Amino acid sequence: MLKRMISGLLILFFLAACGGVDSQEAPEETQQSEETETEQPEPETEETSKGEGEDTSQEEESDEEAKDSESADETSAQPEEEPKEPQYKLGANWSFEPIADANPQVALITIDDAPDKYGVEMAKTLKEMNAPAIFFVNGHFIDTEEEKEKLKQIHELGFAIGNHTNSHASLPDLTEEQQKQEIVGLNDQIEKVIGERPKFFRAPFGQNTDYSKQLAKEEGMLVMNWTYGYDWNEEYMSADAIADIMVNTELLNHGANLLMHDREWTYNGLTQIVEGLRNKDYELLDPALIQTP
Ligand SMILES: [Zn+2]
Repeated sequence: MLKRMISGLLILFFLAACGGVDSQEAPEETQQSEETETEQPEPETEETSKGEGEDTSQEEESDEEAKDSESADETSAQPEEEPKEPQYKLGANWSFEPIADANPQVALITIDDAPDKYGVEMAKTLKEMNAPAIFFVNGHFIDTEEEKEKLKQIHELGFAIGNHTNSHASLPDLTEEQQKQEIVGLNDQIEKVIGERPKFFRAPFGQNTDYSKQLAKEEGMLVMNWTYGYDWNEEYMSADAIADIMVNTELLNHGANLLMHDREWTYNGLTQIVEGLRNKDYELLDPALIQTP
């Protein structure tokens, strides 16, 4: 009787022990399958990071590998450029104001009518100076393959691309259908070239209509004019003159939205402009920090 009870207990103990082994193995198996799953999105990460610099994408990948398999699974599913939390919003007179405790002494550089003759070189100059900017693109400047390549280059140098309409026509003169073609049509074109739609809209001559504002909003674009600009006035068509007025104007205030163009003299004055703004303790506003609809 006692023997039976003992052997019965031994069998129970043995079964329990086996069960224990099984339940220990289970997590190991799922961990492995999670690891193999996380390898799958990697080719995508490599594809989407084209032109962004191979070093960066490699760093990101090794960072992911270092993390545990669960979080690596989440991060590798995201695009390589994580959207930043907005820190600035459009305020009065097309200037920008901090949302919370961001530095109020900022200025935004915008380059309109791009990419014409100097856009790519302007982007390279700004990149060298680590100065962010928005390039507002016109559809008639991205007709040919060569022109599309310029747009691609500017985007791949890390600059925000804005919509400045297809033909640079005055929007109030157009029908709604024409305005749609000017705005949404250009977004379609830009997306084909750089793989994403613009987040910023600037109407030619700053002439918005109720309909164009509505379209921009539907497209998720922030409508912006500018606070000041001078490079279309004859007296400022030299590097020194434009660099001086862009930095030493009374209109330079916190959150200023600076309008410049893809023009020879503006390109030649660009380094001086960036240095001048920084000497006045202005930080150049990163468009990625601007709140969009
Ligand atoms: Zn323009």
